[in-house]
Amino acid sequence: MLLTPSHVAELRMSLCGKLLLPGEGGYDIARKLWNGAFDHKPALIARCVNAEDVARAVEFAHASGVVLSVRGGGHSFSGQSGCDGGLMIDLSEMRDLRVDQAARKAHVSAGALLGEIDRAAQAVSLVTSTGTVSHTGAAGLTLGGGFGRLARKFGLTCDNLAAAELVTADGKRIRASAHENPELLWGLRGGGGNFGVVTSFEYQLYPMPRNMIGGVLVFPFNEPRKLLRSFADFAATASDDFFAMVDIVPTPEGHRVIAIEVCHCGSRAEAERELTALRKIGTAVQDSLGSAPYTELQTRIDKDYPAGRGYYLKSGLIQEISNGLIDRVVDHLEAAPAPRCLASFIQLGGAISRVNQSATAYWHRSAGHSVLLAGFWDQPSDADTPRLWVKTGWKHLEPLTDGFYVNLMAEDDDEQRIRNTYGANYERLAALKRKYDPANLFRRNANVRPAEG
Ligand code: FAD
Repeated sequence: MLLTPSHVAELRMSLCGKLLLPGEGGYDIARKLWNGAFDHKPALIARCVNAEDVARAVEFAHASGVVLSVRGGGHSFSGQSGCDGGLMIDLSEMRDLRVDQAARKAHVSAGALLGEIDRAAQAVSLVTSTGTVSHTGAAGLTLGGGFGRLARKFGLTCDNLAAAELVTADGKRIRASAHENPELLWGLRGGGGNFGVVTSFEYQLYPMPRNMIGGVLVFPFNEPRKLLRSFADFAATASDDFFAMVDIVPTPEGHRVIAIEVCHCGSRAEAERELTALRKIGTAVQDSLGSAPYTELQTRIDKDYPAGRGYYLKSGLIQEISNGLIDRVVDHLEAAPAPRCLASFIQLGGAISRVNQSATAYWHRSAGHSVLLAGFWDQPSDADTPRLWVKTGWKHLEPLTDGFYVNLMAEDDDEQRIRNTYGANYERLAALKRKYDPANLFRRNANVRPAEG
């Protein structure tokens, strides 16, 4: 179907929210994604305010054949929540959030950000497992997996997804839970945005006191191999209450430091015992570990990830931080143009690894960490050097990884990489895709092709 002004007018009339076209007020703000590496210009942006709006927009995309992208919090590293010339469904105005304290459930609309869930749940001393940066969207994070400071304790965000409501490719509104369309719930737990537009999520919550122990230990980059080895040994035996992210980052002065960002959700005595052992891995030049409200810990690194900056990253999953991997990471960092390149290790394991591989779409349960190389820039003209640094370094690191986290997908990650990361779950996902989205309308994601036949 050719897009005509009358089709567009019909879509506009059918929505409670706004339909924005290039040149209209608000269009240039709405089309922007967090990752400034992308400058997508959709032909239409449907700013949906409810599930009916989403259904109308999906029907329109289905009937017209235009490219469709779905934006929750807009934090896609690969820029796939935007599109050029197609229809972007923008969920950022769908922000309802209700905590049912008695049932320990949070009912969350698709445009909510992680910080909003953390704050609402903690207001009644509850939590769920979310991510590490509070301005990230709950929708994309949940559908791809979701790991953060409490994942080793309570599992991935998708493990705590009890139910979801969504609009499928034919515009139908359905619910997925343990009792209704359970196979679809299986797919939504890690299978990304392949099956429809989720309009609301229901999360399991857990009691949790407001204060935890957390903060950052900063070490100089003078004996990086030794320090990373000691950290890896410590992390291998850490309790599920402990979570750490190691970032080897440039400072504004042009040096490099190793920052270990920690959260401990256990008792104060347990936290002190474990963190005393952690402090012995080296001599920190900065130590901010202490008691703080969980909601504060959850926002502490927000400012390090400003919207609008360009980012490119490659990541992979590893069982353990081996000496070979440490050598390759440090060698590459030492060869780096200092100011715009970093490497990170994000700790996984714990409760994540105790879920059976086929119990949800998320396959690589036994990974102990995710390792990544990232480059960033403020001006598009500065993009080439950090990009090249990530690409060349990744050639050395990738052979030591097994699968990757789809939410850290780069724009050049190919179909084979996606197939590999879903392991033996891929065929089941492909069958589900055929049932709910046979024409692959939802393809701007870590795409699962509909099974043939
Ligand atoms: P969007 O860009 O809005 O969406 C990404 C994709 O998700 C879309 O292309 C679409 O395919 C799908 N999607 C979004 N909403 C819907 C919906 N309602 N229905 C169906 N499909 C949908 N991940 C972690 O697990 N832990 C972290 O600690 C973490 N930290 C991060 C920090 C930063 C600064 C950033 C940028 C990312 C981080 N991530 C983390 C990765 C994050 O999980 C992904 O970027 C995720 O896609 C963000 O979700 P979003 O809704 O903001 O993204």
